[in-house]
Amino acid sequence: MSVTRGSTTQINDTILMYVELPDFCPHCGKSVEPILVSQNIVKGNESQCAELCWKCPNGICSRLFLSSSELSVQNGNAYYLLSQYQLIPTYCPPIDFADEVDRVSPQFSEIYRQANRAENAGLNEIAGVGYRRALEFLLKDYCVYIRPEKEDDIKKEFLSQVVQKFVDREEIKQIATVALWLGNDESHYVKKT
Ligand SMILES: [Zn+2]
Repeated sequence: MSVTRGSTTQINDTILMYVELPDFCPHCGKSVEPILVSQNIVKGNESQCAELCWKCPNGICSRLFLSSSELSVQNGNAYYLLSQYQLIPTYCPPIDFADEVDRVSPQFSEIYRQANRAENAGLNEIAGVGYRRALEFLLKDYCVYIRPEKEDDIKKEFLSQVVQKFVDREEIKQIATVALWLGNDESHYVKKT
């Protein structure tokens, strides 16, 4: 089957589909015209969904991904119109931190990236808690870095107390305090902001 962007395409004997091609690959992030590999129509009670499998034509990537779209009948005939598609997996742009950050708190970098992946996947309830955890590692590791003789105290104490006691620069202390208010909201049952 050949598919052209925006064309009506024969899916089988009865179904014609207006196909909207993804314009980039969620693995390598390159702007590409992906190759349609296979398709599947999922029939629900009230709506239908088209799951299309694509291959990235970028030679050094060549990976498979899915687009998923709600279908609607067009003019009551056998034509189906694809709405906005959702890509699986979702694309997560690479995040680079300064070498100093990676050196002082390598776990912050990894936790932040995981929280960002959750956010990009629409897992907002999880992402906020992840960002809060990343912040805790960054602040505590920073305090251990500047006050290594207090490492045990810093690791045991509540983060808000660590910030007040050990963060040496006033502007960092103020930013950290506000970030903690917001971050704590993400972790608790009842939000205060
Ligand atoms: Zn690719």
